[in-house]
Amino acid sequence: MMIQYRGTKMAKLHYDIVIVGGGPNGLAAAAYLAKCGLSVCILEERLEAGGGAENTEPIPGCRIDPHATYLYGAYAPGFDQLELDKFGFRMSHARNFGGVVNYDGTGTAAGLYNIEYTLEQIKKRSPKTAETFRYLYDNLFTPKNLGNFLRSIYWTPPPPVGMPMDKSDYPWSQVLKKLLPGLYDDVWNDFSGFELMDALWDWEPLTAALGLASWYNGPHPMWKGVGIQAFACNLLMLGSNGVPRGGMHSYMHALIRCAMFHGAKLITNCKVEEILVEDGEAKGVRLAETSPLGNRTIWADKAVIANTHIKQTFLDLVPKRHLDQDFVQKIKDINLNGGSLYVMHLVCKELPKYVGEQGEIMKGKNYPIALVGPCDSREYLINQTIDVYSHRTHPLRKESMTFVIGQHDIIDPSRAGGDLFVVSPIYLQMPPPEYHRDGPNAVNKAKDEINHAILGAIREMAPNMTEDNIVHMFVNTPEDSSFRNLGFVGGNWYGTRHDRDQWWEKRPLPELSRYRTPVDKLYLCNQSSYPGGLCLMAVPYNLMHVLIEDGIAKPGEWWYPSPWYIPESEARYSRSKVPA
Ligand SMILES: Cc1cc2nc3c(=O)[nH]c(=O)nc-3n(C[C@H](O)[C@H](O)[C@H](O)COP(=O)(O)OP(=O)(O)OC[C@H]3O[C@@H](n4cnc5c(N)ncnc54)[C@H](O)[C@@H]3O)c2cc1C
Repeated sequence: MMIQYRGTKMAKLHYDIVIVGGGPNGLAAAAYLAKCGLSVCILEERLEAGGGAENTEPIPGCRIDPHATYLYGAYAPGFDQLELDKFGFRMSHARNFGGVVNYDGTGTAAGLYNIEYTLEQIKKRSPKTAETFRYLYDNLFTPKNLGNFLRSIYWTPPPPVGMPMDKSDYPWSQVLKKLLPGLYDDVWNDFSGFELMDALWDWEPLTAALGLASWYNGPHPMWKGVGIQAFACNLLMLGSNGVPRGGMHSYMHALIRCAMFHGAKLITNCKVEEILVEDGEAKGVRLAETSPLGNRTIWADKAVIANTHIKQTFLDLVPKRHLDQDFVQKIKDINLNGGSLYVMHLVCKELPKYVGEQGEIMKGKNYPIALVGPCDSREYLINQTIDVYSHRTHPLRKESMTFVIGQHDIIDPSRAGGDLFVVSPIYLQMPPPEYHRDGPNAVNKAKDEINHAILGAIREMAPNMTEDNIVHMFVNTPEDSSFRNLGFVGGNWYGTRHDRDQWWEKRPLPELSRYRTPVDKLYLCNQSSYPGGLCLMAVPYNLMHVLIEDGIAKPGEWWYPSPWYIPESEARYSRSKVPA
C-alpha cells in the first residue's frame, strides 16, 4: 500500500524490517538485510544519514570529521560481503599509522605495514620491546593471523544468554593459544591493559601510548579483565592503517548506496517517536509529526531494529508499560563513563614539527596519521583518569595532558585546501556532561581554558604550533557531540563503557547480549551493543547471526558466519563442543 509523502506517492506503510536510525550500524544492517531480499526502511532523524560518521568544513575546502575519523574495520567481513568497493568505497593507506611523541624528543613512528623500520626504531629505545614485537609480528601480526584474532573478538557474537563459558573457551583465547604457544596464558583474560603490556615489554612510552589509545577506543588500560581487548583495539588501528578517502562520511555513502541498490528505502529528517508494541511484540514505529510523512505508523512485518542508543531505545522509544520496571532501572543504571571526548581540529600552515630526534622521523612519508603524546610516562594518563573519573572534571593541569593527535591529509589530499594542513582530531578525555561535577555545561564554558592547556602542552613538544601557524580552530565537546549526533548519549563514542561488566556476554546487560530484547521482534543494533563503538560493521554482522537463527534473514552464498558463533541450539554444549 502506498502512502502520501506530504502530497506525493513515495513510501509504503509495510516493510519487512524497519530500522530506527541511519548511523553506521543501522546502515550496515540495512545493507545486509536488503541484500537478503527483505524490504527494509531506514528512518533517520537528522537531515543526513551516517550518524557519527559525518564530515564538515570548518573553512571552505578543509574537511574534518567531528566524530568518527579513523577506519579500524579492515577485517570486517562487511567490506567483502557487501562489496563496498563496488559502491564507491576507497581507502587511503598510511605508511606509518601510529607514533609516539615525547617531551624529551625520544618518540618514534610505527606501523604494521612498515615493520622493519618500526622494529629498528624500537630496538634503539628498548631491545626487549623490539624482541617481543618481532615475535608478535611473526606470529600474530601477519594479515591472516591478525584477521583471525580480531574477528574472534569483534566479529563474533557473544555466546547464548546464560551459557557458562570458561576463559579458555573464549574465541580469542583459542586463537591466541594456537598463535602464541608458550607466551599466551589464559590468565591474560584477568589482566588489565597495563598488566599485559608490562608482562610483554619494557619501553614505557609505548605502554603509555598504547594505554591511552586503548582508553580512547574503549577499554581503559587500568580496567581488569579487558587487557586483551585493550591490546586488540590498538591492533585494530595498526592493522587497518588508514582512513576512507574523502573522510568517514564517504564510507557511509558507500553503505547507503549498497543498501539502496538492494532496494532499501532511506527516509531522512524523519524522527521516530515510538516503537509500537502489541502483545509483547514489536509491530512498527510511530513517526514524529515533523517527519516528511507526518505522525504516521510504519509497520514492520518481521522486525524492528533499534540503531538508537540503549538508553534512548528503552527510556524514550518503547513505552514503559511494555517493560518490566526492574529492567528499566537496569538500563538507567548503565554506566556512561569513558569515551566522552573533547575534540580539537586545527587548520594550519604547517604540520607540527616535534623537538629532538622524533622531529627528524615525523617527516614526509614517515609522518604518522595518529600520534600519541606526550608519553614520556604513563603518569599523564593516570592523572587524566583521576581528573575525569575521580574529580569528575575536565583535565587542565600540564601533568594530565596527553592526547591523540591526528593528521590525515598527509595521505588524503582531498581533506585540505591549497597549502593548508588539517591537524585533526586532537582528543582529550572528559567526563560525560551528565556526570561533570559542575554541571553539563561546564566543559563548554571552559573551552578557552581547555584549548589553552592543550595547545600549551603541544607547543612544548612542537614549538611551531604558534598562533601564527594556526589558521582556524574548530572544537566539539562531548556536549556538542551529543547535540550534534542524537545517538551520542553522554557524548560517548562507544555507547557505554568497555569494562568487564559491560563487555562480551555482559554487554550492555547479560539479557541483551544477543541483540534480542524483552520485546519480541525488537533487536538492537547500536554501538551500545556488543562489541561497542566504532564504524566496524561488527554489531550488524553479529546481529545477522541471530536474525538468521530466528528465521528472519536468509542470506545467499555471499554470507559466511563467524567460525566461533554458538547457535542457540548448542547452548547446552560443554566446552569440548565449542567450535574450534
Ligand atoms: C569524538 C568521537 C570520535 C570518534 N572517532 C571514531 C573513529 O575514529 N573511528 C570510528 O570507527 N569510530 C569513531 N567514533 C565512534 C563512532 O562514531 C560511533 O561508534 C558510531 O557512530 C556508532 O554508530 P551507530 O550506528 O551505533 O550510532 P550513531 O552513529 O549514534 O547513529 C545512530 C543514529 O540514530 C539516529 N537517531 C537517534 N534517535 C532517533 C530517532 N528517534 N529517530 C530516528 N533516528 C534517530 C541518530 O540521528 C543517528 O544518526 C567516534 C565518536 C566520537 C564521539
